[in-house]
Amino acid sequence: MSDEMAAHFRDTMLTHANDPVTGVCVRCGRSRCDEWRWAYERLVLAGRLDDLPRHRAAGGGKSTADPGVAG
Ligand SMILES: [Zn+2]
Repeated sequence: MSDEMAAHFRDTMLTHANDPVTGVCVRCGRSRCDEWRWAYERLVLAGRLDDLPRHRAAGGGKSTADPGVAG
C-alpha cells in the first residue's frame, strides 16, 4: 500500500468515525459503517493501522480501535 492510499484510508476512517455523542457515523448514521470498516480492514491488512494518529498501539490483534470511545 502506498502512502497516498494509506492517507486516503485514514481520512476515510476519520470522516466516517463514530460521533462521540451519538455513537454512530455522522455521514451514514450507522455505528462502524461500511465505509469505515472497509478502510479499517485495508489498513489492518496492510499493517498501516498504527499510522492512525488516534490509534493506541497496544498489542494488536482483535483490539477495538474505536476512535469514538470516550471515558
Ligand atoms: Zn459512514
